Amino acid sequence: MSDVQFGHKSAKKSRRIFRSPDFWFTLFRMKGKALTLSVGIVMVLAGGIFLLAASSRKAQGGQEQAAVEKQPAVPAAPKDRVESAEIAPKMTYGVLMEEHGIAAADAAAIYEASKDIYDLATIRAGKRLDLMFDPQSGAFKGLMYPLSTEEELHVRREADGWKASREPIVYEVKLKTVNGTVSSSLYAAGLEQGMDEGAVIELGDVFQWTIDFAQDVRVGDTFTAVYEERYRDGAYVMPGRILAAKYVNGSTASQAYWFQNAAGEEGYYDEKGGSLRKMFLKAPVAFKYITSGFTTGLRYVSAFNTSTGHRAIDYAAAQGTPIRATADGVVSFAGWDGPYGNKVSIRHNGTYSTNYCHQSKMIVKKGQKVTQGEIIGYVGTTGFSTGPHLHYEMVKNGVKINPMNETFPGTDPIKSEEQAAFDEVVKTWGDALR
Ligand SMILES: [Zn+2]
Repeated sequence: MSDVQFGHKSAKKSRRIFRSPDFWFTLFRMKGKALTLSVGIVMVLAGGIFLLAASSRKAQGGQEQAAVEKQPAVPAAPKDRVESAEIAPKMTYGVLMEEHGIAAADAAAIYEASKDIYDLATIRAGKRLDLMFDPQSGAFKGLMYPLSTEEELHVRREADGWKASREPIVYEVKLKTVNGTVSSSLYAAGLEQGMDEGAVIELGDVFQWTIDFAQDVRVGDTFTAVYEERYRDGAYVMPGRILAAKYVNGSTASQAYWFQNAAGEEGYYDEKGGSLRKMFLKAPVAFKYITSGFTTGLRYVSAFNTSTGHRAIDYAAAQGTPIRATADGVVSFAGWDGPYGNKVSIRHNGTYSTNYCHQSKMIVKKGQKVTQGEIIGYVGTTGFSTGPHLHYEMVKNGVKINPMNETFPGTDPIKSEEQAAFDEVVKTWGDALR
């Protein structure tokens, strides 16, 4: 509880680094380099074909073994003139349309046509709204607004008025393979290899049932990731799915292969088809919150230690960092508990429960059901505590135990009737992970 010595200075330093222009400049340069490299490297292997087949299989509900679909030939039509409006803070839909010369009646009709899909009165600053005009007559033809990373709102003028629809965003997908060695953290090593921050976080999440990235990471650990990069009109947009990955932690290698079954359920599996998903997450704080703080040379985590009587793991994290339930369960306590401060206890089954202490704010109540990964509260320093951290306890049959020493079986493995399809996936990426 009060036993933690944190490297607060360094945590602050690393946060400062993120805000410094130098960092972003360096990151930008790294990305540029990596992009150039990636053009040379991976792109379309035999795997690309598999990928197309896999995504097309998904689109068809997994019923058919899909072949690569050809786009029908479209007669070349003159392209619309597009005015892209960056939405400024406090900009409203009405004003934006007016500024682009759209008649108020059209703006109102478009608003009505699309309100079942999206309320245009709530357009968000920082996003972009595209307005399409006929290249010859200059007539206003419609608009496009991004709803998420996967879908857009399209509104078009048709003979009988404005029509709105929800359309999937079609990205051009390239494959990228990165290999790296950890000298300070997986996060830093991923960025060094030119990975997008989002892809590194995704990589950490693939192994969230396998590795506690706050405690387990060792200097010299290695990793490989094969993942998608999404492009649009030739420009890089964001990372897509991680297709295969490997993390070598000390002498233990863990592999992960993404697989989607015929029912459309997706997940990550080891090379034999065992699920990476387990009853307990390795850490109650998500990888993205412990990444920037962790440095192997410093003591950021206070471990389970029976000789000092610290029968818990302390996760150093900034005040307000979300705390997640490590497994499904029912909240058995949520309130003040003396030296533990604000504490939440979750009963997972007849054997296991977990406690989450010193919270600044709890957002669950006694009796409430929670699911694995659900946010239950926020890191604080309430009770007997010297600085913001999460004191995490696992209790087995009434005894506080070290979660690091517990092994939990995976959830459902690959079904026997899908083993052959899964083996093909392992074959496709196996070489890249070797
Ligand atoms: Zn503690």
